[in-house]
Amino acid sequence: CGIVGYIGKRDVAPLLLEGLQRLEYRGYDSAGVAIHGKSGGLKTAKAKGRVRELESRLPKRFAGTTGIAHTRWATHGAPNDVNAHPHLDADGKVAVVHNGIIDNAADLRAKLVADGVELVSDTDSEVLAHLIGRSQAPTLEEKVRAALALIEGTYGIAVLHADFADRIVVARNGSPVVLGIGEKEMFVASDVAALVSHTRQVVTLDDGEMATLKADDFRTYTTEGSRTSATPTTVEWEA
Ligand code: GLU
Repeated sequence: CGIVGYIGKRDVAPLLLEGLQRLEYRGYDSAGVAIHGKSGGLKTAKAKGRVRELESRLPKRFAGTTGIAHTRWATHGAPNDVNAHPHLDADGKVAVVHNGIIDNAADLRAKLVADGVELVSDTDSEVLAHLIGRSQAPTLEEKVRAALALIEGTYGIAVLHADFADRIVVARNGSPVVLGIGEKEMFVASDVAALVSHTRQVVTLDDGEMATLKADDFRTYTTEGSRTSATPTTVEWEA
C-alpha cells in the first residue's frame, strides 16, 4: 500500500515513521521498517495495526541513516505481524517492501520450497526477498533485475541489502514510485504526500523503470539496465 525510504545523514527511524503517518489516509492494516544498523547488518520492526503501534515496538537502539518502511493493505495472507513488510531473505541480508500483487507467487513459492528455502510469511511479496538474496549476480541492481525477471504482476518495491549499505534500489511496474531529491539526502515514496515536507524536487518513475539512490546521487534505468534520463521536476503543494 505505502512505501517510504530515506538515505542521507539524518537519524532515519523518525523520518520513516513520519512518512508512514503521511500515508495513513490511504488505509492499511500493518506497518514495518528496516534500516541499516550503525554497526552493519539490517534491523527490522513490524506490527499489525497503526504506525503508533510500530513506533512503540521499535527497539531502544534503532539508529541508522538509511532505511525503508511500509504500510500494508493485505492481498495475500492475513494482516498480522509476520506478514507485515519488510520481508527478509533467509540470511537476513535483504529487506524488501512491496506494493502490488505478484501473480505467479504460488509457483515461485513452490520452487523456493523445493530448493529448501523456508518461507516464514503467507505473502506473495516474500518471494522477492529470497529471489534477490539467492541471485549470484555481483551488484544489487543486477540481483534485483534478475529477481524481477521471474516475477509476473505489479510492483512498486524498495530494497536494502546488508552488503550494499550505500544504496537503496527501487523499481516500478504498475504501482507508483516517486524519488525525492534532497541536498546530500534522497527520499523515495509511493506518494508525494510522504515527501513534500522534505523536498519539492521529484522524479516519478515509469513502469519498467528502476533507480539507485545514494545519499548524494541517484540514477534511473530500465529493468533491462539501460540508463534513462530523469530530470527532477518541482511539485506544487498546498500544505
Ligand atoms: N500483496 C502484498 C501483500 O499482501 C502487498 C500489499 C500492499 O500493496 O500493501 O503483502
